[in-house]
Order: sequence, then C-alpha cells, then structure tokens
Amino acid sequence: MDIKQRMEEIESLLNKYNYEYYVLDKPSVEDSEYDRLMQELLSLEEEHPELKSNTSPTTRVGSEVVTNFEKIVHQRPMLSLGNVFNEDEIVKFDERIKKEGFNPEYVCELKIDGLAISLVYENGVLVRGVTRGDGRVGEDITSNVKTIKSIPLRLSRDVDIEVRGEIYIDKKEFLRINEERKKAGLDLFQNCRNLASGSVRQLDSKVTAERKLNNFIYHLPNPLDYDIYRHSDALLFMKELGFRVNPKYKICKDVNEVISFINEATDYRSSLPYDIDGVVIKVNDIRMQEELGFTARSPKWATAYKFPAERVTTRLKDIKFTVGRTGKITPNAMLEPVRVAGSTIRKATLHNEDYILNKDIRVGDIVVIQKAGDVIPEVVKPDLDRRTEVLPEFIMIDKCPVCGTPLIRKEDEANHYCPNSKCDARNAQKLIHFVSRKAMNIDGLGERIIEDYYNFGYLTDIPSIYNLKNYKEELKSLEGFGEKKVNNLLNAIEESKNNSLEKLLFGLGIRHFGEKNANIIAKKYRTMENVKNATYEDLISTSDVGDVMAKSIIDYFKDENNLKTIDTLKSIGVNMEYLGSEIKEDSRFLGKKFVLTGTISAMSRDKLKEIITSRGGNVTGSVSEKTDVVIVGDAPGSKYDKALELGIEIWNEEELMSILDN
Ligand code: NAD
Repeated sequence: MDIKQRMEEIESLLNKYNYEYYVLDKPSVEDSEYDRLMQELLSLEEEHPELKSNTSPTTRVGSEVVTNFEKIVHQRPMLSLGNVFNEDEIVKFDERIKKEGFNPEYVCELKIDGLAISLVYENGVLVRGVTRGDGRVGEDITSNVKTIKSIPLRLSRDVDIEVRGEIYIDKKEFLRINEERKKAGLDLFQNCRNLASGSVRQLDSKVTAERKLNNFIYHLPNPLDYDIYRHSDALLFMKELGFRVNPKYKICKDVNEVISFINEATDYRSSLPYDIDGVVIKVNDIRMQEELGFTARSPKWATAYKFPAERVTTRLKDIKFTVGRTGKITPNAMLEPVRVAGSTIRKATLHNEDYILNKDIRVGDIVVIQKAGDVIPEVVKPDLDRRTEVLPEFIMIDKCPVCGTPLIRKEDEANHYCPNSKCDARNAQKLIHFVSRKAMNIDGLGERIIEDYYNFGYLTDIPSIYNLKNYKEELKSLEGFGEKKVNNLLNAIEESKNNSLEKLLFGLGIRHFGEKNANIIAKKYRTMENVKNATYEDLISTSDVGDVMAKSIIDYFKDENNLKTIDTLKSIGVNMEYLGSEIKEDSRFLGKKFVLTGTISAMSRDKLKEIITSRGGNVTGSVSEKTDVVIVGDAPGSKYDKALELGIEIWNEEELMSILDN
C-alpha cells in the first residue's frame, strides 16, 4: 500500500471511530488503538505535508453535533489537547517551549476522564451549559447541567463569566448503575466517561438527575479580563466563585517536578474515587500562553500525558503451549508485538482450553490484550467485528509438547496436565519458580540462564542450584559471564539459604499453593518438619486453607522424591524455619517513606527494598515533601538534587550499612 493510500485508510478509520465515540457513545475500538492511528497519521503528515487532506481528523476536535439539542457556537473554540506518552515526549514538549525563548513554570492537573463542558454565567447566574461538540459548535444541555448539584446556579459574585471543566461520574456510582442495568438486562456502560457522556445528553433531565454526576472546573478562557495573569490564580479565583476545583494540582518549577507529579499520580491513581486517564501539563503564565498560541486542534502551551494503556488490540499469530512446573499445560498467544502499560508484549496467556473455546478465540483474530499490574498479560476476547475471513476453530493438543506423554484433564479442573513428573520442561520450570523473586529470590538466575544451565547439565534439580559453585570455572567461560557476575550469582545463591520458611515452601512448587498460603502455613507451623507432619484435619482448620490445598500439601509430602529434595536441601544448610517473628519493626524505618537513587554496591535494589519493608518502611518512586529519607548510592540521579533542594534526610551507603549493622 502506498503512503497516500495508508493516510486515506487511517483517515476513514479515525472518522468512523470519532463518530462512534462522540456521536453514538459506543466506541468499537480501544482508545489506545485510536491514539496509535492518530500518532501514525500525525507522523505521516509531518513527513509528507503535501499529502495532508483538508479534512484530516488531526485538525478536528471531537465530532459532529447530534440534532436533538440546540446548537450553540462557542465564544472561543473548545480545543482538544496534544498528547504525550512517556518521559522523553514530556521533555521534548518542554524543549519546544524553551526554543521559543521561554523558561516556563507549569501547572500539573489530573486529567479527569469525563467530558468537557462550558458554563456561562451572567451577573453571577448560570445561563448556559454547552458540550464541546466539534469544538466550534456544541450542544445546549443547560437543563441537564442544572441537575448536577456541585455546579453552582449562582456564584459568590455577580460576574459575567465563562468557565470550562469536566463532567464525570464517580467509580462507585458507575458500578451501582451498571449493577442495576445488569439486573434489568440492559446493555452495560463500558467506562465512566461513556456513562457521564450518555447521561448529560439525555433528552429527559430526570434520567440525568438520577445519575449522580459530578464536575471539576479547570479553565478560565479569558483570565486577563479579570486581571489574572497565572493559570494557578485562575484556579483560586474560580474556587472563590464557588466552583469545584480539583485540589490535586501543583505548580511545578520545571520539567523534573512535572515528571515527579506524574509518578505520584500514577501511584495514587487507583485509590481516587474518580477515573483519570492522565495528567494535563499547562504553562502557568497567561501571557506566555498567549504568545505560544494554538495549532488547529490544540493549544501549544499545554499537553496531556496519557497513562499507558492497560488494554490494546493486536493480531493473534499463533497459539503455542508451555508446560508449567506442576505439569500444567498453558496455551499462550503469540502476538504481533504491541505496547501495553509501558512494555512491548509478544506473548499473553490464554489460560486453558475452555477459556479459548468459550470466547471463540482463533488464530488470525484481532484480540484485546490486558495487562494488570505485574500479572502476565492476558487475551481478553477476540474482536469479532474485525474477523473478516473464516478462521479455523481452536483444537486443544492431546500430547505433551515436550515429552509426548498423553495429557490428562481431571473432571473438576479446566487445565490439562502432563502426568510425566520427569518431563524435561517440568524440571527446568521448577527451578525457574524456585529462584523467582517471591520464592527464594536468587538474583542473577533468570529464566534463560536456567534453561541454558539445564541444557548444559549444570542444573538438574532444585538442590543442584547449591552445587553450581562446583562449576565456577565453566560458568565464567560462558558468553556474558565474568568473574564478578559469577561471584555475585554464587553469593546470591549462598545468601538464599538464610531465607525464612515461607519462601522455601512457596519455592518448592506445591500444587495450588500460592505465596500468601505459604506465609500462612509457615507462620502457623514454624518448621518444615511440622508442616510435613501436619494432618489433613489440622491443615483444613487453618484460615484460607481449603480442601484442595490441604490435600495437595499432604500429597506433596507423601512423595518420596519430594522428601528427598527437602532432606538434601536441609543437609546443604538451607534454613527450614520461619524467621518472621525475628524481623523486628525498626523505628528508623517504621512508617517512613524511602526513595532510592544510584547504585548501592553491597546489595541489589530488590534486596534493599525487602530490608526496608521488612522493618516497616515504604519505598516510593519519586522524591517529594512527603519523603522521609533518600538513600543515595553511586552515580545518583536527579532525585538526589531534589532531596538536597527539599532538605530531606540523606543516607549514603556507609551510613546505611552502619544503620543496618546496628
Ligand atoms: P483528550 O482526552 O486527549 O484531552 C482533552 C480533554 O481532556 C479536554 O477536552 C478535557 O475534556 C479533558 N480534561 C480533563 N481534565 C482536564 C484538565 N485538568 N485540564 C484540561 N483538560 C482536561 O482529548 P479529546 O479530544 O477529549 O479526546 C481524544 C481522545 O479520546 C483520544 O486520544 C482517544 O483516547 C479517545 N477517543 C477514542 C475513540 C475510540 O474510538 N476509542 C474515538 C475518539 C476519541
């Protein structure tokens, strides 16, 4: 396809998506897909300005206006915002402004995920509420706006004024309404924005009133008329007039403070009662804003940082199977690479046969991928509207992809298992689990290294990890390994012998046994011996331990091979006791917020974090007034300067070590 054709194709897709999103309130693709196409079109237009069409969606804001409400021409257009998606792009935004000869202070605000509204007051009385519409013409929704209790009908002063803000709905209210709709068998709203937008555009105001909408006001279009020269003062002024202004904004002296604000917002985002989809960064000085001006679509003095998408779409190229440490077979989606939540995803889980069949997921489909926290991303569903050809249905394999043994599926379980406990894949997987962070936490033994060592024969089973020191010379000669790296690895292995029982219990890979269960069991039984001797009745009387898990623990300790593994580990010197109670809360750490910067040579960052949290402290990502201590290692970053500037307590490595030694 040539470039012009591609541009036309994107244009028509974006036009379709805009219509569905703004007019029908029924988007058919994820926002990230829309954003991706928009970015692609923007960069094609930049490279080939001669091919840019007059009607390009890159110059449009919102979409056409539906006919039922009266059309109102905005006194000043209501624009959209440019988007930035990462730190680099934020820095570039700042550099572009600096290139114009300014050194701006910014105001950062939360980007509320609702819909924009313009409110007009005459003599302090609300006369009109208008949606953004296409940016030039909006819809008069005054009667609906009046049902929103937090929008003042009369201001504290008799001014003529226009303000702009966002109408949104709280997460709780969203859940309540969807719950009711579910009971009534009605279509569910996809998200808070969708619901807020649908609610203010109801022809019957009573429906709007029933949905408890809320608002934040964030923009004064003509501040100079009120002798206001800074956006932050405009916020104060609007608050004084009686508007609801979000208190979580901050004046940022430079781009580093902007980035810290974003990091903090990213951390507390999920605890807010309302949805936000990013942070808006605005030049504070109004005169500077005026000089910077606008593009056709958005102001040059502001931009929106968008949080990484948690859901995106991509093509499912193939399904491949892996054998887990318990023999469980997992179908994995092989995807066309796509970025989700800051990382590129090539693989995602499809869970099991039933999951794939129930959702009718087929190779060749465009699928929705979701990433939640550090959980492995999963395929949520296929986009059936985008299945344009007949695709073959999924068929589950019946033999282990590694050893060829016929698979089994127990009646009450959705998963297939390879029953061969000697299956090669199972053994390497067991080791990968044993060294993982939540288990024995052995730094430097990644998945690939384990597989390589396993293939070389240096690793055969769990206890063999502690024999790796016998292969020191061989390890040093391997690609990418030197004296230092091998020493670090061997030290980490030795250190893991001192782990508390729960880490070992979890690392053994007992079926159905999670990290949390390991904690509960270790706390209750305190030694491996006691766990081994525990009866079914005693196990099941433990809170959070059910029938399946109790049986699984009993089965595990019945197996001769497993008992041998534990005995060997014990003879090697691996700790078999719970150490939890010995970790004392430490007043130098308890309840304090720590930030780490630079390299601490004595231990890994994960180890240091573990030490701090085990003593009751918290580790956060960025320095702010709320930080108590910044631990500074070799070659520290800007966090160090920030700590100095704010006068926050600083510990260097030496101080840290002496505190820990005490
Ligand atoms: P935007 O969401 O990128 O940002 C601009 C909007 O942010 C403003 O109009 C305002 O409503 C809002 N906002 C919230 N808090 C604010 C604050 N403190 N200060 C200033 N503004 C604030 O732009 P947009 O034009 O509203 O929407 C475009 C976005 O909508 C796209 O990036 C895409 O994610 C989504 N979209 C999706 C589809 C789809 O089919 N999925 C279609 C069209 C648009």
